[in-house]
Amino acid sequence: MNKKVRVRFAPSPTGGLHIGGMRTVLFNYLFAKHHNGDFIVRIEDTDQNRFVPGAEAYIFECLKWCGLEPGESVMHGGEFAPYRQSERKEMYRQYAEQLVKEGKAYYAFDTPVELEEKRKTVPNFQYSQATRSGMKNSLTLSQDAVNKLLAQNIPHVIRIKMPHDETVGFVDMIRGAVNFNTSQTDDKVLLKADGMPTYHLAVVVDDYLMKITHAFRGEEWLPSSPVHILLWQYLFGLDNMPEWAHLPLILKPDGKGKLSKRDGDRLGFPVFAMNWTDPKTGELTAGFRERGFLPEAFINFLALLGWNDGTEQEIFSLRELVEKFSMERVHKAGAKFDYEKAKWFNHEWIKKSTVHGLQSTVKPLLINAGIEINDDEKFKTVIELVKDRCTLLPDFVQQSSFFFQSPEAIDINAIKPKWNEHKEQFFAELIRMYQLADTWQHEALENSFKELAAASQIKPGDVLLPLRIMLVGGKFGPHVFNIAEVLGKEETINRVKHTLSLLEQ
Ligand code: GLU
Repeated sequence: MNKKVRVRFAPSPTGGLHIGGMRTVLFNYLFAKHHNGDFIVRIEDTDQNRFVPGAEAYIFECLKWCGLEPGESVMHGGEFAPYRQSERKEMYRQYAEQLVKEGKAYYAFDTPVELEEKRKTVPNFQYSQATRSGMKNSLTLSQDAVNKLLAQNIPHVIRIKMPHDETVGFVDMIRGAVNFNTSQTDDKVLLKADGMPTYHLAVVVDDYLMKITHAFRGEEWLPSSPVHILLWQYLFGLDNMPEWAHLPLILKPDGKGKLSKRDGDRLGFPVFAMNWTDPKTGELTAGFRERGFLPEAFINFLALLGWNDGTEQEIFSLRELVEKFSMERVHKAGAKFDYEKAKWFNHEWIKKSTVHGLQSTVKPLLINAGIEINDDEKFKTVIELVKDRCTLLPDFVQQSSFFFQSPEAIDINAIKPKWNEHKEQFFAELIRMYQLADTWQHEALENSFKELAAASQIKPGDVLLPLRIMLVGGKFGPHVFNIAEVLGKEETINRVKHTLSLLEQ
């Protein structure tokens, strides 16, 4: 590639960010970094009716969480500012007017009421080469009439005049050659009555002005591409057109159709990157971040939704992804979303993470759950001990709270059925022995425990589970003697005594 690679993620701020959108961000980012190029975020807010307050800030927060920050954007500035299309409004009209002059677009004066009437009376009405001759536009009206309407500032739009029966095509980086017949696409609006461009005009003009070399977007945009190709051909020349890749859909777990927000609600998993609250309805949609995913895991599983490096490798850091990513290895077919697999990635990433990396994420979770952490060294030891047992970040609360406060409840029923005097004597002896211990370290504690069991002619396994329940409250947690070591002598003995007293009742 001789030109500097420049790619863009071009979201419309209309709500929360679906994982499909997040994967588009990721593939843009990986491609840009792989080629030492630029990653740009452009806000496509030309549809004022769909504008949702807070959505833009939310998008940038998602990117920040994942560490996929752009070099140029409304937040980061850049040579091609402004990066918000509503602030570029004045730039687009000249291109639409140029197309009208060249006979490639036309003014349409049909009022919203007239259009509504058409839609009601003509099934599947489309403003197109089949219908445009029966409408009120600069192709059907006389030049004089048009000039008059324009002079009177009568609201009008500019529509592309789709040519009759021509083939337009391009080579998609994922799909190969894609061709369309121009008769099949309607005469899309390019400039709206309020002077705002539509997406179709704005995307082409901005990709040109911002020197975009590669444009990656969801597969749902494929049907619009003939319009975009024609605009490129008419306005800037196909040689300047970016290379396109239309990314495959992310499918429902059963593979039947596109994964939607509603599937997540129905099946109990998040579909958005972060929690999103609809400002109008107050409805909350769950996000991966709040569900307890690490950004490393989130990125990792997103990358594998539709891409692999040709080997069996599944765990990739962002650095490795940058190194190995290529658009040619993205599959054409949709990728099925599998929440269990997503959780597996998170578990792997929690295991791989260092205590140092985890502590700032885990600490607030524990504090929010009402756990006091006064001793940072102890906190770090606990993370190291329990991290392999945590699949989602909130699991740290359950897995580690007993280290900092005595268990709220002791699962006494798990001890009672097999409890007997012999065991009671063993624990009474254990307390005495541990009280005398001068080192409080897990190996020594385990050895003396086993020696005492042997001397008492008791199988260590028979008293190990009761000890665990005494210390933890239930049948979970890391190695018992590691727990005892962290709890310390006094607390360990107190917890054993406490359960013994419960067993006596
Ligand atoms: N604004 C479009 C969207 O919201 C972007 C499509 C594109 O990247 O060209 O999906």
